[in-house]
Amino acid sequence: MLEELLSKLDLSYTQKILENMIRINSIIGQEAELAEYLRNELEALGLKCEVDEIEPRRPNIYVRIKSENPGKRLNYNGHLDTIPVVDGWETDPFNPVIKDGKLFGLGVCDMKAGIACIIDMLRAFTNSGYSFNGELSFSGVIDEEAYGKGAKAMLKTDFAQVDAIVLAEPYSGDELKPIPLGITGKILYDISVKGKAAHAFRPHLGINAIEELGKILNNLNKLNFKTHPDFGEGNYSTLKIEGGYDIYSVVVPAIARMEVNRLLFPGETVHMAI
Ligand SMILES: [Zn+2]
Repeated sequence: MLEELLSKLDLSYTQKILENMIRINSIIGQEAELAEYLRNELEALGLKCEVDEIEPRRPNIYVRIKSENPGKRLNYNGHLDTIPVVDGWETDPFNPVIKDGKLFGLGVCDMKAGIACIIDMLRAFTNSGYSFNGELSFSGVIDEEAYGKGAKAMLKTDFAQVDAIVLAEPYSGDELKPIPLGITGKILYDISVKGKAAHAFRPHLGINAIEELGKILNNLNKLNFKTHPDFGEGNYSTLKIEGGYDIYSVVVPAIARMEVNRLLFPGETVHMAI
């Protein structure tokens, strides 16, 4: 039966869905159009969607295929948002381009390809007429690249009360571990330093907040990182730093702040990381 189901997967359909998704801008905060597209696509397959607005114009989308017979429940999950466009694109990020056998576009890898595979799997499963027990569902969530508001809302719904959730996230596994059982979490450090303003010709009269912040920055690598058999060694990345004047002036900066991302491994809690 599995062979028959697998034979119904359609790579050209998956690619078409993926290319359509790339043409839709779904940068964090702008997920509505993609959710609407997926809703239309899933409803065209005869599946009924539930849409839950987490914030205005920021919906999670859910779909459920339920057997009349009780059984295990499995949810496939994907996030609708992508990160913003960064420097260095050689092609239009919203126009899918195939080069050297690879498809380029914003969010192809993370994670519109994963969602396209889920949609094709749901299509193949629905069309197969396969009789099964339990429930198969899909949850598409917002805000994964930021605060995870969509996933947090999803976890409060019935779609999270399942036997297993498969995240279709990209993962650089190998042949021995193609699929990890779990994923790293993250904590965002928001670090502010208060110094003391002074005329910058007499810096010794003030406390330079940027330079003090720099001392912290230079010592972040002394954080106590854990290692984990499945996830390797912990790490951090400084994401943003700001401080100093808005208008050029010779003033010792009194305030500086930075945001630092740190990965958390299974077993590590927020309290262990602060
Ligand atoms: Zn992702």
